[in-house]
Amino acid sequence: MTNADIAAAFEHVADLLEYRGDNVFRVRAYRTAARTIDSLVEPLASVRADATRRLTDLDGIGADLAGKIETLLDTGRLPMLEDLEREVPAVAFDLMRVPGLGPKKAKALVDALAIESLAALEDACREGRVRGIKGFGAKTEAAILENLAFAADPDRARLLWSEADEIATRLLEWLRGCPAARQVEAAGSLRRGRETVGDLDLLVTSDEPVAVMDRLVAWPETADVLLRGDTKTSIRGPRGVQVDLRVVPAESFGAALQYFTGSKEHNVRLRGRARDRGLSINEYGVSHLDAAGEALPAARLSGRTEEEFYAAVGLPWIPPELREGRDEILLAEGGQLPRLVTLADVRGDLHMHTTATDGEDTLTDMVRAAVDRGLAYVAITDHGQRVTMAHGLDRRRLLAQWTEIDRLNESLAAEGPPPIVVLKGIEVDILEKGGLDLPDEVLAGADWVVASLHYGQNQPRERITARIIEAIENPHVAVIGHPTGRLLNRRPAYDVDLEAVIAAAARTGTFLEINANPWRLDLDDRQAAAAKAAGVKIVISTDAHSTRGLDVMRCGILQARRAGLEAKDIANTRTLAGLKKLMKKR
Ligand SMILES: [Zn+2]
Ligand SMILES: [Zn+2]
Repeated sequence: MTNADIAAAFEHVADLLEYRGDNVFRVRAYRTAARTIDSLVEPLASVRADATRRLTDLDGIGADLAGKIETLLDTGRLPMLEDLEREVPAVAFDLMRVPGLGPKKAKALVDALAIESLAALEDACREGRVRGIKGFGAKTEAAILENLAFAADPDRARLLWSEADEIATRLLEWLRGCPAARQVEAAGSLRRGRETVGDLDLLVTSDEPVAVMDRLVAWPETADVLLRGDTKTSIRGPRGVQVDLRVVPAESFGAALQYFTGSKEHNVRLRGRARDRGLSINEYGVSHLDAAGEALPAARLSGRTEEEFYAAVGLPWIPPELREGRDEILLAEGGQLPRLVTLADVRGDLHMHTTATDGEDTLTDMVRAAVDRGLAYVAITDHGQRVTMAHGLDRRRLLAQWTEIDRLNESLAAEGPPPIVVLKGIEVDILEKGGLDLPDEVLAGADWVVASLHYGQNQPRERITARIIEAIENPHVAVIGHPTGRLLNRRPAYDVDLEAVIAAAARTGTFLEINANPWRLDLDDRQAAAAKAAGVKIVISTDAHSTRGLDVMRCGILQARRAGLEAKDIANTRTLAGLKKLMKKR
């Protein structure tokens, strides 16, 4: 345990005590101690080891705190902190990490609005419910909304891809409204579809760069101008995101787009390949090298489009999602680039919730929204009874929902071929002690069973792995939902031997999910690629809890593309008959 670890533990204690409404002096004692320890150059362990000194000699450290420091040094844990953590609802930790929300405000939010997640807080802000709480106001509400994105990552908040995409979409539209701007594109990790995005990199071609820069600065959402130049301007936009806009000549647009799309690893490999061929590449284009290895500016080959640019180094165009410096250049060279799955390939969505549990919209609304999105089939998969927080379904309520689905399917088919088929599904819970929260004889009546792990996420690796593999071996379980349980910027994956899970899925013909929720994207790109390599079919599902939740399918598609998946690797690109054929026998 370093001084910083111990200081952080005391800070945490102070937060939790304050949240609980403890004595202010007690709270302050922990904060003072944390500050003392944090500013101490010498490690606490050596102060303690020194026989001539005592921990209590340190400013603000009494006998009680000294004892706690010793416990932390000896065991790496603090039982008192663990007790406090159990007492305070989990969401409080998330809330307190939102800049501007201390323990008191977090508590006020939980008490007044029964906030259960950062997403719920965001909704409450948008709906104007926060400003009414005592001590809050419209300004605080707006500030919270802005700071939410930074809540989870104390170092450097990266936006979720979907959040970055929303901002970029608005900004690109604004820039395209500038008569001086010709081509306007986003590059960077946003274009590569990475799950989180740091900065936004935009490229514009124009004969009047100044006018384009003016337009960016005049964007109503520009909060701050960081740098103003002739070819590059940087601003801070909403949620503190940095936007770098570069104006490039039209003959270099493809080269610049390639260069600023990255990744760094991809570009390094590409440069090496170019050098081997006597070429030099940079953001302006491809040039020949002279005998001394210097680029000959006069001999520029190409750079107008990315296709030309890649062709100049002997490669077909490589989709941005694959440009991570893994094996994409080898595949491109061998003509073996995958034909990546697209949103249009998706025929069904096999994981969604309704008002029967924690969804916001009814069964009928969800199905109607799925028809509007052109889907041929959906599975309704509300939570099983273990998820008490979401009012999970017991046998009786589940069977009632299935009767409702039967009726809905009948009415959909009343006037000719139905626009959509609704599958009777369930998201069963993988119980802490093993097994599922609904018996096999109930599951046998389902068309589609998602099994997910929501509880006991802190169990050791062997336990969690065994629980999931047991679910995989259940003949009724079609797919494992969000297989690692991570929540981006909020919660790491639980400890699971994913290799063993993938092997079990392959052996039994169980699908694994790419959960398309932008907070989850679980499996991630590498894991999904590993599943494919093992012969496991993937299901991309939205896990929608509202009709608009169905729109996140594209985020799942991006993740699948980053994994190099093709339509044939994804079970829900099949027709319903095709899907059924692919499902394991039971
Ligand atoms: Zn779930
Ligand atoms: Zn779900």
